[in-house]
Amino acid sequence: MDLGTVTSLRAARERADLRLAPGEVLLAGGTWLFSEPQPGVHGLVDLMALGWEPVERTGAGLRVAATCTVEQLAAHVPDPAWAAWPLVGACADALLMSFKVQGQATVGGNLALALPAGAMTSLTSALDGVAVVWTPDGGERRERVADLVRGAGRTSLTPGEVLRAVELPEHALRARTAVRQVSLTAVGRSASLVVARQDEDGTVTLTVTAAVPRPVQHRFAGVPASAQVDAVLAGLEWFDDVHGAPDWRRAVTTVLAHEVVAELAEVGA
Ligand SMILES: Cc1cc2nc3c(=O)[nH]c(=O)nc-3n(C[C@H](O)[C@H](O)[C@H](O)COP(=O)(O)OP(=O)(O)OC[C@H]3O[C@@H](n4cnc5c(N)ncnc54)[C@H](O)[C@@H]3O)c2cc1C
Repeated sequence: MDLGTVTSLRAARERADLRLAPGEVLLAGGTWLFSEPQPGVHGLVDLMALGWEPVERTGAGLRVAATCTVEQLAAHVPDPAWAAWPLVGACADALLMSFKVQGQATVGGNLALALPAGAMTSLTSALDGVAVVWTPDGGERRERVADLVRGAGRTSLTPGEVLRAVELPEHALRARTAVRQVSLTAVGRSASLVVARQDEDGTVTLTVTAAVPRPVQHRFAGVPASAQVDAVLAGLEWFDDVHGAPDWRRAVTTVLAHEVVAELAEVGA
């Protein structure tokens, strides 16, 4: 849609260009910014002009630029040892998106928006992703994605901070994973997305997203017993919106959590 209040568009070419004037906001893929009125927004600062390398292999794993699109990440050819890679495609498909939206929507935009159904939040938190944040004083800070996303539409990002990248560690990329996702309607927004991950040292990490306002993550020394899974789910705050009632989200998430854990146990047996 046209943003009738916007009178300026700046292309950011270097870090100094990211200092925002009153009324300016960062523009990434624009799939959300242009999807609804943005009262109070007068200027856009286009991050895509920074030309950040979308995906970089590092000694410690993979560094995904905030401006990497969902499509670019899904198209990356992984290291053959990265058993967790199918999770990328599963989470990309979990977004209620046409291929057109996947081609524009960025990983950073998805995290910054912090919708509970943010599939890049699901993916990167399940893989122990660490967000690299540029601070307005010219510095940088790091925070686990699971902590950066604080609630529905809330992150730890403060005014002037820019999400630069997400680092995915090698140990998580090499892990075995099982994932389940459910929506209230056939191609609806995720109502629950559950990932179980087993690292090479046997540790199992269970990550629940979409059904809860912010990622919930628990680690176990090995494949957890049913009662341990139930104990994690007991007492969670279940998200409530048009994409699913809290009692339904609790019920389906319970089924999905037991399924992913059972799948890990089966494959590992
Ligand atoms: C048809 C359709 C279906 C959708 N389905 C889903 C869905 O299932 N789940 C879901 O989570 N979302 C969904 N969305 C919302 C949105 O498209 C996605 O969350 C998308 O990933 C946002 O990324 P973007 O790059 O387009 O962000 P933009 O629209 O460009 O920006 C989104 C917000 O993030 C801020 N931002 C962007 N990049 C940064 C950065 N690097 N640092 C700091 N702030 C930044 C912007 O200022 C803005 O406030 C959907 C949208 C459409 C149109």
